[in-house]
Amino acid sequence: MKKILVLEDEANIRSFVVINLRRSGYEPIEADTGAAALEKLKVNPDICLALLDVMLPDIDGFEVCRKIRASGSKMGIIMLTAKSQEIDKVTGLMTGADDYVTKPFSPAELTARVDALIRRLGIDEVDGNYEIQSGPFLLNTRNRTLEKNGERLKLTQIEYLLMKLFMENPGRAMSRDDILLAVWGEDFSGEPKTVDVNIRRLRTKIEDDTAEPTYLTTVWGYGYKWGY
Ligand code: CA
Repeated sequence: MKKILVLEDEANIRSFVVINLRRSGYEPIEADTGAAALEKLKVNPDICLALLDVMLPDIDGFEVCRKIRASGSKMGIIMLTAKSQEIDKVTGLMTGADDYVTKPFSPAELTARVDALIRRLGIDEVDGNYEIQSGPFLLNTRNRTLEKNGERLKLTQIEYLLMKLFMENPGRAMSRDDILLAVWGEDFSGEPKTVDVNIRRLRTKIEDDTAEPTYLTTVWGYGYKWGY
């Protein structure tokens, strides 16, 4: 399981984040001060991503970010900023953070950002686990290929990213907005309908019967779910 450092001094926000990361298959490592976070990083060199709150009782989150980068680490860093701290976003990105999430955030938004950053940084590949098996499907994240019953399916990049998102989150209902954010990224200004169009095309490749999808199922009025 991928370890994620959660640096947040407010206990209720921290446990909210921890619960949701755990639910998404990550192993959260908690810290409530900057000093504690740096200590946890020393003890857990395999932490692949850090969520850093900005306002802390000791050193601030940017200082922690700077120290992580100064140590030569290329781990993913997401700053957790308060709404009024617009300027913090800029500072955060300049000190080496990869992304930021503005409080308050939804569990879906947080995990979508974490998943997207892990994918962007290729952390999946680093931990040596290249394959995801689900039912008759085998996804190889190194070659970016998908097989069904041992036969290679030809996918576009978007279809590959959709399959990866779903196979990494079996049984989890995902809204169109979650999917847009995770696959197309935050800069994409397209409509949720884009998701439907691509899912329809993906289904023609993966489903036994597109009229009765059994793998990639519709969650009415919400989005989609990987059925396995
Ligand atoms: Ca705080």
